Amino acid sequence: MTVLIAPSTEGPVSTTVRVGAYLERGSQRPSSVGPLGSEWQMQSEQRPSSDGRARTVNLYYQEISADLYEHAIIRIHGGVDIPCHRATSEQLNIMDATLQLVPPSHLERVLRAKPEGFLISSTTGRAGGSLSYTGGLNAGANYRETPNYNEMRLILITYGALWRRRSLGICPTVLHEIGHVMTRRSEINYNPFPEDRRRALGALRVSRNPGALEALCNTYMYMLCYGSRTQEIHDFGSGRTNQNDRITRDALRHCPAFSSRLLSEEWRSRFEER
Ligand SMILES: [Zn+2]
Repeated sequence: MTVLIAPSTEGPVSTTVRVGAYLERGSQRPSSVGPLGSEWQMQSEQRPSSDGRARTVNLYYQEISADLYEHAIIRIHGGVDIPCHRATSEQLNIMDATLQLVPPSHLERVLRAKPEGFLISSTTGRAGGSLSYTGGLNAGANYRETPNYNEMRLILITYGALWRRRSLGICPTVLHEIGHVMTRRSEINYNPFPEDRRRALGALRVSRNPGALEALCNTYMYMLCYGSRTQEIHDFGSGRTNQNDRITRDALRHCPAFSSRLLSEEWRSRFEER
């Protein structure tokens, strides 16, 4: 791995960050274990629901101290430099291993759409709207609370998302968010999917954002994992659900993102059935 710490940055700065648990339904507390065990702090938030009335959601987090590099650059595939902000060295390693799964042409599109790379943060969204301690976001606005960063030029990833799959050594949320970039010019799209599969995926509610593209971005995330040479990551990417079975992979291979226009022969062979 090459992590190049930008010259303007001195050593890491110790800061308090919040690591989130996945939002649990109802009044149940998270069953998962976080960096500090299973004790979670809770924050309630009012959110508008589909019937127009506000409903209360409970968000869970743990507060930990982290040694953050304000700015770092990760060099992927020997020549694509991806900026990564406010991560610890352990998190930079996870980002590095994750971005190694993404073909160079896809990373170039990420840099075109999001030239400032990735900002790791305690939350995505804003209080009172769609605040979350988990997941990631291709933000559609520049947040006032962070004057040093323009979120429109960044992909947001939460500390919770980096924590969640750390046993795999990668962060699937990062791949899902890159999937959103790949939908912008339909480089991944539903056209090659069989009609019933398209309908099934479009109806899934796979994240707090309803919408057909969420499942498509998950299929992309699983596909990149499927192409991994690490057995555990490959296994994670291959399954029997609508999002990660062979029918879905065959459809993705007919999307521009996985065509010979965007992938070298070597990269195409990684995504072949095996
Ligand atoms: Zn999404």
